[in-house]
Amino acid sequence: MAQTDPNCIFCKIVRKEISADEVLRDEHVVAFRDLNPQAPTHVLVIPTEHAAHLSDFMQQAPAQAAHLLAAASELGRRFGPGGYRVVMNEGADAGQTVHHLHAHVLAGRRMTWPPG
Ligand code: 5GP
Ligand code: ZN
Repeated sequence: MAQTDPNCIFCKIVRKEISADEVLRDEHVVAFRDLNPQAPTHVLVIPTEHAAHLSDFMQQAPAQAAHLLAAASELGRRFGPGGYRVVMNEGADAGQTVHHLHAHVLAGRRMTWPPG
């Protein structure tokens, strides 16, 4: 049985208890549009299993972590044929606000570097 957290907002999206504009769903990942998009396409890719951080998930389920990156790159190619960015924020210094691991896939505009 996959790990889940009854109070986690992204686990609720996995369980369809709250709605999201989904662009991909399979056994291991769900991808949906961010509520507060930072680019013309801004999609979040999350594991269906709850893990707060990338470093936890790499220990817990490395094959699913690879699957998450595969989904992010597939969506990047779909929405950003001219290029795309994948971002994963871990911890307070990186600005992580939702403690269910997620990859941001941003596309549809020219990005700048370094990020803020
Ligand atoms: P973080 O700052 O943790 O890397 O990113 C969390 C992201 O989740 C933010 O970009 C925020 O807009 C998005 N977000 C938070 N709650 C919801 C929600 O209920 N639905 C959707 N679609 N996005 C959310
Ligand atoms: Zn969760």
